[in-house]
Amino acid sequence: MTHTVALECSDFLARYGPTSQAISCIRREEPPAVRSTLSAGGRNAPRQDRLAELRSDIRKLYTAGSPQDGESMPWRRPSEPSRSTWPGTPAGPSGVQVASRVHGIELNGRALDPAVCWTGSRILLHDLGEDNELRVTADCPYAASGEGLQRTVDPDGTVHLHTQFEVCAARRVFAVFDQPDLKAPLRLTVTAPDHWEVFSNSPTPRPRPAGPSTARWSFPATPPLPSYVMALVAGPFQVYRSQAVVRGRAIPLALAARASLLEASEVGEILEVTQRGIEYFSTVFGQEYPFAKHDQIFVPDLVPTAMENAGCVTLGEELLPHPRATEALRERRAETVLHELAHMWFGNLVTMNWWDDLWLKEAFATYWAAAAQAETVGHRRVWATFANGKKAAAYQQDALPTARAVCAPVPDTARAATAFDGITYAKGAAVLRQLAAAIGPEDFQAGIRRYFTRHRWGNADLQDFLAAMDHDRADGLAGWSEQWFRTPGHTTVRPDFDLDENGGYSRFAIRQEPGTAPAPLRDHRLAIGCYHLVDGHLVRTDRIETTIAGAHTEVPGMRGRRQPDLLLLNDDDLTYAQARFDERSLTTLREHIGDLSDQLARALCWGTCWNMVYNAEFAARAYVRMALSVLDREPDTALRELLRLRVAAAVERLVHPSWLRTGRRLLADTAHRLALAADAGSDHQLGWVRTMADAAVTRGQTAFLCDLLHHVQALPGLVLDAGLRWTLLRTLVVNGHAGTAEIEEELRRDQSAAGRLHALGVRAARPEPAAKEAAWQQLVSGSELPLPLVTALVGGFQTIPVGGHELLEGYAARYFEVIGELWDRHPYGVARRLAHGLYPRPPVGQRVLDLTERFLLRPDLAPGLRETVGNAGQTMARCLDAQATDLRSWQAHLPKPADSVVRLAFRPGAAR
Ligand SMILES: [Zn+2]
Repeated sequence: MTHTVALECSDFLARYGPTSQAISCIRREEPPAVRSTLSAGGRNAPRQDRLAELRSDIRKLYTAGSPQDGESMPWRRPSEPSRSTWPGTPAGPSGVQVASRVHGIELNGRALDPAVCWTGSRILLHDLGEDNELRVTADCPYAASGEGLQRTVDPDGTVHLHTQFEVCAARRVFAVFDQPDLKAPLRLTVTAPDHWEVFSNSPTPRPRPAGPSTARWSFPATPPLPSYVMALVAGPFQVYRSQAVVRGRAIPLALAARASLLEASEVGEILEVTQRGIEYFSTVFGQEYPFAKHDQIFVPDLVPTAMENAGCVTLGEELLPHPRATEALRERRAETVLHELAHMWFGNLVTMNWWDDLWLKEAFATYWAAAAQAETVGHRRVWATFANGKKAAAYQQDALPTARAVCAPVPDTARAATAFDGITYAKGAAVLRQLAAAIGPEDFQAGIRRYFTRHRWGNADLQDFLAAMDHDRADGLAGWSEQWFRTPGHTTVRPDFDLDENGGYSRFAIRQEPGTAPAPLRDHRLAIGCYHLVDGHLVRTDRIETTIAGAHTEVPGMRGRRQPDLLLLNDDDLTYAQARFDERSLTTLREHIGDLSDQLARALCWGTCWNMVYNAEFAARAYVRMALSVLDREPDTALRELLRLRVAAAVERLVHPSWLRTGRRLLADTAHRLALAADAGSDHQLGWVRTMADAAVTRGQTAFLCDLLHHVQALPGLVLDAGLRWTLLRTLVVNGHAGTAEIEEELRRDQSAAGRLHALGVRAARPEPAAKEAAWQQLVSGSELPLPLVTALVGGFQTIPVGGHELLEGYAARYFEVIGELWDRHPYGVARRLAHGLYPRPPVGQRVLDLTERFLLRPDLAPGLRETVGNAGQTMARCLDAQATDLRSWQAHLPKPADSVVRLAFRPGAAR
């Protein structure tokens, strides 16, 4: 099948004075290439302040520049003298080719020789005038790894396209100033097969015939946008249209996906969340929805979970699981829809100046998505999910040597890609929650409204945000901001008290100390919760809110109070600090955590126990037993789902390897029992079957799963869909009860794209050296590897049966030999998945830490690779510490804190 898809884009550079420009790209599917023409110029646009500055920079740079400079320069932050942002067709940070051929470059009507002025990544220009018009015609390749214009071909030959530009991949589709402070309108014309649906940032216009089976869509101009949220999505999508009516204004909504992926119930649910979100955000932000419409399109092979293109959100298909979504997934999907919607204001209406203020959009989108969801799902439930999920991950990340501040310098776009992490999203959101607690929710909201009024359609940074928040505040927020936005790490708070003879506090203080990585002590507004056992329930009898500062803060309000059965520091989760339990509280929880009826408090207790396990202060097997004993009566589905994952993670990585088989057996037995007891066809039932499949280790356990797969046994209401069948088969294969023949037979049943990926993964999971070697070769020798393929292969490769670690032992050294070259060869998303996913897993232990340390001494490592490998090494060291504590607790038959037994000599951030 051959299609022609042509793009003409206008008005990119309007902000620089001259408007009217056009890009036209002619895209041919055979061979895959884009031809693009860009022209910049015009007469009547209002001159912007930055124009003169920009032009002089360009003049300086390009009259003095040389092709070699252009080739090697990464995309720099604007304030740096080596700035080089004239529209070009530059290579990506990993050297991925952007334009396969540049046909012509015209400056102010004068043809330039591409062989001279195109460097492969930049265009060098001389003799610039006051106003300039540049026209570039180039062929650009499609993307297969997700960044740029992704082209996905279904097994039946159907083609779908979508753009993914963040951080700086717009230049892989057309010539553009690819940085967030350079906002400009976009006008796009698309020529494509006439049966396709075509979406962009502006409302989709009525197409006009443009040849046999071909049509042309001429999109109207957008408001000023940064290039990373410009978008094109095209293909034979199935579309559902509706509208949101907010204060009399009708906003068109579209929801689209590949044919038959969306079900009517999902359409209704997602559109309702969207409508509710638009109402909520327009009210609290004091600004109406900024764009003319809101499209949400589920696309294949999307690299992030979702992307907030202005008025044209893309979402990953993993949010549409079949045959049905669990309640936990539906909540996550609603949260994602609201997160991307919040970006229409935070990011798209007001954009950060540069990537060091990425939190200005991501922390806010995370925070406001939760706040909006709380309106319907329930306040304590939503913040419980946040505390135990995203925030817990941020604590872990913030304890690594590479932890950075929420607002930290990002020198170039190669580093910008590494800022999309738990620090920016979850710690950022937690810091905003602490800000609201510190200044009061009304002042917080008033500050947000001032921020939008001042900066709408423009750019902003931390100082602009603080100025909007600081309005009329005598004390100012400069010191607060320095503590919370500018310094990395978390702190830990512990109770420190004496008791009188009646069991009351004669003295009570809160001690604050740095976490495992050095961190400055902060001022916190926090709540202390006192819980007593009353008629078999743990209920809160007192709540004392206070401000603490420094290493030691006396809390006079606690003096004289009876010591509670459970003392919960940071109750209500107001601040960002890890809390610890005293001995009595820990003892209470081991017996009674299931009797704590408050959802948020229970989530915080589970989170604190997990942090203590991870920090080698509480034995992993005690945590596992505690969770297994109450999981069946945990009413919060999100918390239950999380606990199930945590127990599995604790068994795999945090218990001592000598207890791995026992832990697996206990987990699989519990899962088996709970799957049998669960309601027919419920989420629990499915979740427990999956857990059992992941943990199964005995002959009886695998035999049960085998019977399920072959319909010898059935669980009432359990739908054995293709995904679950692959999960069950994988268990049988890993444990040596099925092999290649069964995999091929399953693949004959399931010829879908997902089925092929599953087959790849299960083949790689075979417990045979040849299977591991084949997967390894595929991963290290491929060039354009699609991300889903990498994920499937890495997952299968790393899966081994209990006791089968010798299968992977030889790959630890090989990993360090090849990973540098793999990092350079692939775009960031794939490179990171390889570096992180292939890093050797426990129980290889200390030898891998030595190899890691030696690797990090290499002077030539890319910063992102250094961070990824360094953090993986640090995480493994933490696991080994936790395992040692676990072993010691077993030997002593009591859990107690242990000294660190694994010394980490390397400091991943420090090497040069
Ligand atoms: Zn986001």
